[in-house]
Amino acid sequence: MLNALSVDVEDWFQVGAFEGVIDRADWERLPLRVERNAEAVLALFDKAQVKATFFTLGWVAERFPALIRRIADEGHEVASHGWDHRRVFTMDAATFRADLHRARAAIEQAGGVQVTGYRAPSFSIDQRTPWAHQVLADQGYRYSSSVAPIAHDHYGWREAPRFAHRPLAGSELVEIPVTTVEVAGRRAAAGGGGFFRLLPYAFSRWAIDRVNRRDGRPAIFYFHPWEIDPGQPRVAGAPLKSRFRHYTNLSRMESKLLKLLGAFAWGRTDRVVELERHRLQ
Ligand SMILES: [Zn+2]
Repeated sequence: MLNALSVDVEDWFQVGAFEGVIDRADWERLPLRVERNAEAVLALFDKAQVKATFFTLGWVAERFPALIRRIADEGHEVASHGWDHRRVFTMDAATFRADLHRARAAIEQAGGVQVTGYRAPSFSIDQRTPWAHQVLADQGYRYSSSVAPIAHDHYGWREAPRFAHRPLAGSELVEIPVTTVEVAGRRAAAGGGGFFRLLPYAFSRWAIDRVNRRDGRPAIFYFHPWEIDPGQPRVAGAPLKSRFRHYTNLSRMESKLLKLLGAFAWGRTDRVVELERHRLQ
């Protein structure tokens, strides 16, 4: 079973959890660490001999075109994470269209490849954005991995399907949600990010194995370049819960990831989507 491995390419200060304490206007003045951290991720993938999808902010692609080109040259998929991490439910359809367009232009220009996949910042496609998938389909995207079918304090669309589906009648667009695990009717997040870093490795291994075997479906896993960077600046003034989630176990992340990469088969999200597409025919 080929599982989808993905990286959301954004810097340490661009995460949703710090939105209330770090102003976008200050981004230009903060030390950028995303390039070296993404390079460390590439080295890790090379070591594990896996290919992945890099959902990249247009803001990052514009500043580090060589990084985006290198990601593509090494055989990974380059996809879009929007322009500057504005969550989709804070936009209207026209603003979303413009955000997508600007991000894709920067990413395609940098990478020299076509972008066909999109991941919403903080999984922000939900019941508040009934127009979002249509906008993606209109712009020619093949897939979106933008829904977290779970209730979470910052995001989530609990009623959404757990696995790949076509959200629009008459359109080929596939939505492939981030992985959840279901036990006795209760859903838990199991697709990576902070959950992978904070919880014991054994939980993620068990959950992905359960999704592969019991549900018979691929897992969709993600993390961020800053999650393998214990040396990043600490943000003062952020809520305690956000700081706990952001900084715990950063130094252990790399070895934990290597273990996970060795335990299952991993590949690019576009490949996994095409395999799932056959099942949806
Ligand atoms: Zn993100």
